[in-house]
Amino acid sequence: PFAFQGKHITVAGLGVSGVPAAKVLHGLGAIVTVVNDGADGRARAQAAELEALGITVRLGDGDTLPEGSELIVTAPGWKPDKPLFAAAERAGVPVWGDVELAWRLRGRDGREAAPWLAVTGTNGKTTTVQMLASILKAAGLRTAAVGNIGVSLLDAVLGEERYDVLAVELSSYQLHWAPSLRAHSAAVLNLAPDHLDWHGSMEAYAADKGRIYEGNRIACVYNAADKATEDLVREADVEEGCRAVGFTLGTPAPSQLGVVEGILVDRAFVDDRQKNAQELAEVADVTPPAPHNIANALAAAALARAYGVPAKAVRDGLRAFTPDAHRIAHVADVDGVAYVDDSKATNTHAAEASLAAYEPIVWIAGGLAKGAVFDELVAKSAQRLRGAVLIGADRALIREALARHAPEVPVVDLDRTDTGAMLQAVQEARRLAQPGDTVLLAPACASMDMFTNYNKRGDAFAEAVRELGAGT
Ligand code: ADP
Repeated sequence: PFAFQGKHITVAGLGVSGVPAAKVLHGLGAIVTVVNDGADGRARAQAAELEALGITVRLGDGDTLPEGSELIVTAPGWKPDKPLFAAAERAGVPVWGDVELAWRLRGRDGREAAPWLAVTGTNGKTTTVQMLASILKAAGLRTAAVGNIGVSLLDAVLGEERYDVLAVELSSYQLHWAPSLRAHSAAVLNLAPDHLDWHGSMEAYAADKGRIYEGNRIACVYNAADKATEDLVREADVEEGCRAVGFTLGTPAPSQLGVVEGILVDRAFVDDRQKNAQELAEVADVTPPAPHNIANALAAAALARAYGVPAKAVRDGLRAFTPDAHRIAHVADVDGVAYVDDSKATNTHAAEASLAAYEPIVWIAGGLAKGAVFDELVAKSAQRLRGAVLIGADRALIREALARHAPEVPVVDLDRTDTGAMLQAVQEARRLAQPGDTVLLAPACASMDMFTNYNKRGDAFAEAVRELGAGT
């Protein structure tokens, strides 16, 4: 095991991961220096707190490697091309992220380390990890959804609470900085371009996601409808006897590695597909029953089964699960039209999934595009659209894609980016909708041009729908 006592360790970045990491390392006897780019009020307050403990903090100097550093523990969001990391490479200093640190510290206090069931993917991570935790709880296991969500990994590994097994959500950034992580089993839900400015290329992004499979002991769970995830399993170096388990809503091809087929059956073995089929749950047990969410449930079920959870717990756990707010939340029916809030659909891949779940749709979209291209999304969804209402800074990009691929679809372009635009958008959507339609907020964009975050955007939508309802 790595010895921390007396080591010179640099913590890169204050904030949600840096402050607790610095405290833990200091507590282990390391000589800790924190470096941080900014020096605003919040940073100064955090620095004061750490300095009171005897930790050195350098504000406004995040790119100079402190003399004598033997290890860097970085905030996951720090970009690999930062000069600090070039300096570390020249000096032969290893770099860990917060996940790597937690991984190295598990079992340190003598207790048995809980195995990790890990989940990554472009979309659906939080939902899947929560479903997984719900299933594990239904099996009577002590567990929590941790990582990029809820409880921090350091707390889960070092805190008072004892766990049998952890359901761990990991971002591509965290995986980039976690070289020795070895999960019990792991899943990559899907792969679509995202965060490419950080990773540098789609290949680098996929490679970082694929790290989650390295050293898996029991199962690599992949999306049999998304070949890129299967390729990552093929490339991974896993423990002897580790199985590949695919999940799909369709019929698996014979060449595929091993499949959990549909929500109804569990066929986990390569040569044994038919014989081991077992009913796990029904589509109606999953909320909401949208196709992409059934896929999330399958991934969660496959990981839980890899851990040895009985089929009944899969069903009970899925039934007990309720999604977080703003993820395909049914807000109300007004005049026979359903209003659905998927404000969390902040990229095109997510919006495509929710648009695939309804028909006909009046689509409310727009916001900050983050460099996205909307052609594929619009082309695939065009025949489901009754109409579209566009808001936000980058709405012209969506309007142009609609003109190219769905010229028939009526579009209302609201030339507004103020918060009140949402009420007008909902009123316009109502005018376009017919009974039986769904008005779907699936912006395919980030919210920060108009709102503090996607929660506030979804709240504004729900508020506007309530006003509609009150007016009828
Ligand atoms: P993440 O944690 O990866 O951001 P969430 O579970 O919070 O994922 O879901 C975010 C959004 O992504 C949802 O609101 C939905 O629009 C979409 N989504 C969820 N699961 C999937 C999936 N399996 N495939 C595509 N899109 C999905």
